[in-house]
Amino acid sequence: MSSRIALVTGGIGGLGSAICRSLAQAGRKVVAADLAARSERIDAFRAEMDGLDVHFAPADVGSFEACGELLRSIEATQGPVDILVNAAGITRDATLRKMDPQQWSDVLRINLDGAFNLCRQLVEGMCERGFGRIVNISSVNGQTGQFGQTNYAAAKAGLHGFTMALARETARKGVTVNSVSPGYIDTPMTRAIREDVREGIVTSIPVGRMGHPHDIARTVAFLTADDAGYITGANIPVNGGLFISF
Ligand code: NAD
Repeated sequence: MSSRIALVTGGIGGLGSAICRSLAQAGRKVVAADLAARSERIDAFRAEMDGLDVHFAPADVGSFEACGELLRSIEATQGPVDILVNAAGITRDATLRKMDPQQWSDVLRINLDGAFNLCRQLVEGMCERGFGRIVNISSVNGQTGQFGQTNYAAAKAGLHGFTMALARETARKGVTVNSVSPGYIDTPMTRAIREDVREGIVTSIPVGRMGHPHDIARTVAFLTADDAGYITGANIPVNGGLFISF
């Protein structure tokens, strides 16, 4: 059987690149979709993925049209996408009293609409082919809320509502839909947090450290395995015990 094709958005980011590596190591043919970044960043990503079956494709997940073009071009050159990991995300933090409409809509457009834009154009084909794995990267802050993040918390909580509803729609067709909610993981996104705030966060994590991107990547590889077909509509927290619930 030819190897399955995985599309990872935010694919050259901190979590995205670890996810690309894990899926390629699991035998998947991987497309990393991300904004058309500076060529040095893409070259560094290619060097990091050296020897693995991982290709870069520029795309803005916030555009429905661009997502359609991306899917058509992958299908034409490699084949249809079997595994989708929605990991593209941004933060635009501000308390609600100071948040401007652009900060609100940018975060919703990329973190939440991005998942709609791809799933809407992919899920029918997955259902027809009788196989699909979709993983949405949510966040602990979508479960608990976070000061200064009404936009991000709304998008990430919304992403899990989306996951649960789509899981019901596709369950009989061999397509699973799950979310993963990372806690604080050491990536460029969290390195942007002020040093003293970061130190305070680490103190509050029961495991006593930030997570590694691989902690998330291995969870995604588990959920997207061919024999993971009985796990759907779930949210897997990977947060070092920061938020413990059932
Ligand atoms: P990151 O900033 O390293 O990576 C995010 C990637 O998304 C970047 O490569 C960026 O270029 C890309 N991106 C941004 N806008 C895009 C767009 N319009 N189209 C396509 N790509 C776009 O951050 P990360 O830590 O790797 O985060 C990955 C995901 O995990 C995000 O959804 C984030 O919200 C989520 N998350 C991260 C943490 C953490 O602690 N790092 C915690 C919880 C959730």
